[in-house]
Amino acid sequence: MSVAPPFTLFFLLSSMAIGVRGGVFTLTMARLNVRLRSRLFRTLMTQEIAFFDENHTGDILSRLSADTTQVSDLISQNVNVFLRSVIKGTGFIIFMFRMSWKLTLVTMMGFPFIALVSKLYGEYYKKLTKEVQTVLAEANKVAEETISGMRTVRSFANESREANSYYAKLLVMFQLNKKQALAYACYMWSSCISELALEVAVLYYGGHLVLTDQLSSGGLISFFIYMLELGECFESIASVYSGLMQGVGAAEKVFEYLDRKPKHPADGTEAPNSCTGLVEFKDVTFAYPTRPETDVLKGVSFTLRPGEVTALVGPSGSGKSSCVSLLENFYLPQGGQVLLDGKPVNEFQHDYLHSKIALVGQEPVLFARTIKENISYGLSDVSMEMVVQAATKANAHDFITTLPKGYDTSVGEKGLQLSGGQKQRVAIARALIRQPRVLILDEATSALDAESEHIVQQALNSIMQEHTVLVIAHRLSTVEKADNIIVIDRGQVAERGTHSQLMATGGLYCKLVQRQVLGIETGAEVLNPSETVRWKSDRGRRRRNSSSSGSESEHNKCY
Ligand code: ADP
Repeated sequence: MSVAPPFTLFFLLSSMAIGVRGGVFTLTMARLNVRLRSRLFRTLMTQEIAFFDENHTGDILSRLSADTTQVSDLISQNVNVFLRSVIKGTGFIIFMFRMSWKLTLVTMMGFPFIALVSKLYGEYYKKLTKEVQTVLAEANKVAEETISGMRTVRSFANESREANSYYAKLLVMFQLNKKQALAYACYMWSSCISELALEVAVLYYGGHLVLTDQLSSGGLISFFIYMLELGECFESIASVYSGLMQGVGAAEKVFEYLDRKPKHPADGTEAPNSCTGLVEFKDVTFAYPTRPETDVLKGVSFTLRPGEVTALVGPSGSGKSSCVSLLENFYLPQGGQVLLDGKPVNEFQHDYLHSKIALVGQEPVLFARTIKENISYGLSDVSMEMVVQAATKANAHDFITTLPKGYDTSVGEKGLQLSGGQKQRVAIARALIRQPRVLILDEATSALDAESEHIVQQALNSIMQEHTVLVIAHRLSTVEKADNIIVIDRGQVAERGTHSQLMATGGLYCKLVQRQVLGIETGAEVLNPSETVRWKSDRGRRRRNSSSSGSESEHNKCY
């Protein structure tokens, strides 16, 4: 009875310690997960655009979600059990040493073998886990691509093939899982056999010690019980080891991303007080990092002047959008320079550059947030007044106020709940709210119907006077009015001048105009089919709209 109170106290303390240990490790796991994910995401945000050309979204997302979870879960859970087993095991070895150092030495003879097997197994398991995570990332890539393009999948009735290709990836993963299971079984088998061999050796030698009176029979039984306990510790260390190796395998890719230094960091420092918006391309040569052998721009030079509208025109794939990417500092040119106010664009502070240069893309990407948040995207402290002002300039205010929640209406994933024209007007407002010096309009009114195109065009016309404007392969009505037209063909500047000058020379521009007006297929420089359709469809509208403008007679000059 007298030993009960200390034991009760000991038991209570030990249960408390177990609880505290479990709680601390769960908390550590959650913290590790948050830190790992947030650091990985932050690192991803600093990578150059070429990184996202090379790595697929599904792949990156898999690293961000599945791998980080696996790393933090496995490492923290297993570290918990590992530490407990190591501490318990060390205690048992000390007790055993004190009972019989000779028998303990016999026990320890098996350790090098167990350590070697564990090492080999660990290396193999780590390699397999890395492969599993890679296949899992590929499976996620298929899933992500399919689900985000569900409308296309449905319209081509390709659901079952997509499901099969996902299943095929999972099967590859399953093969690797089988190898993992086999490796684990072999490892457990070898560790159990070596444990058994050790027990037999201890009993054999222990019997000899008892017979020669070097150890009491009770001592041998106690020693053997300790040894069984030690065996249990080894078993849990073995299972923990595979878990840890799995964590380390998953961690390798995560750390590869975490340690990756961007090849083209946004580390410019220039932020002058005034910016006129003079843009110069000087002998620019450029190849995409994913296709370094193909120069998409070869010695391109042109200047965009403040207050002037410059149009980049040319067949599809000639390099117009690549010029925009360089101006946006998405890539570095291999040769020549892209200058804003006489300084290379990569020398400007990241935020500064993108507040001075704004892009309205061909298919603007909106985020699954409210319209207000989309318009003020990337800006802090934006008043409602400024948002409304920008939306009004972009001719978006009227349609926004008719929506049930006005500016607080959510636009859905990638803006799917808005029509193409509405999306484009929100994107124009998003560009205008920054009051940029350089405005890039990449087919910015292509998704608008004739009426809203006209109104947006009017809005753009008034804005254009205050900015340096670069218009890309715009509808002829805008291109025609541009102060300067640059015709790009196969990555080179083929022609430059005003509409009437270029029409008079009868070159590539003239042929493109011909095709637009009449839909004639001439020469080798054909537009892609979609572009031909669009240019053709313009023809009807242009005929309706501009029969009195006199520009059609200008087109006829080069027929
Ligand atoms: P345009 O805008 O005149 O239609 P682009 O500038 O988009 O032409 O494309 C020029 C060339 O660069 C094309 O041959 C295209 O295939 C290639 N290209 C465009 N984007 C990439 C990219 N991210 N990676 C590799 N090649 C690309």
